[in-house]
Amino acid sequence: KANRKFHPEDSVIDVGGRKIGGGSFAVIAGPCSVETEEQIIEVAKAVKASGATMLRGGAFKPRTSPYDFQGLKAEGLKLLLEAKRETGLPIVTEIMNQDHLDLFEDVDVIQVGARNMQNFELLKELGRTDKPILLKRGLANTIKELLMSAEYIMSGGNENVILCERGIRTFETYTRNTLDLSVIPVLHNLTHLPVVVDPSHATGHSDLVEPMAMAATAGGADGLMIEVHNNPPMALCDGAQSLTPLQFDETMKKVRRIREVV
Ligand code: PEP
Ligand code: MN
Repeated sequence: KANRKFHPEDSVIDVGGRKIGGGSFAVIAGPCSVETEEQIIEVAKAVKASGATMLRGGAFKPRTSPYDFQGLKAEGLKLLLEAKRETGLPIVTEIMNQDHLDLFEDVDVIQVGARNMQNFELLKELGRTDKPILLKRGLANTIKELLMSAEYIMSGGNENVILCERGIRTFETYTRNTLDLSVIPVLHNLTHLPVVVDPSHATGHSDLVEPMAMAATAGGADGLMIEVHNNPPMALCDGAQSLTPLQFDETMKKVRRIREVV
């Protein structure tokens, strides 16, 4: 179902009236994790003012260490919905377990994180919903495996899948992951699904986010996912790669010189 051969036109995914794919370029921005009401509302207003089209924020966090902040869970989703009410921005947030699906009723885009890209039971369950799904490429997964995971969702009846490149594991340790920009043209060739690039998790360094956001935009991505925090040094998760609202505003100006954000 994801194959371009049987579906030559680009898929355009509708997210609460905003579109992504087929010429519509989306920018999904916000903190790694929802931390407090003040934090998420402040960041939501700031990214909206800079031209972001969707708000991201993790409530259920897949952390490497069980001793790290695990997210505010249901309370985090509540705060995200509040930020949505305040700003009108559609929200994107990660699901870790199909048993939580009821909590995601008012979420606009459900994210499947890199670590769950091959959680096939979760993918099948998401295939039974009609929600747009942002499917992130696994840390060490091939393009074909990413497409097969999309197929798990689509074969269940949900064809609203957005693919996301967020960097892969290589021998390089300077960057958190290695951003594989070549997936953009490769995926556009193989599939009609929109392709989003996440330069934040791909690089792990805030100063690398802007140049890689620009490169992905110029390289034909259908959107970007960028982590923005109102106080990155104090962030409970991924502060080192988070842009301040001011840095995000600068990045948006440069992205808009390459492509219109709608
Ligand atoms: C995230 O988007 O916050 C996240 C955990 O991303 P990934 O699954 O790509 O590591
Ligand atoms: Mn993160």
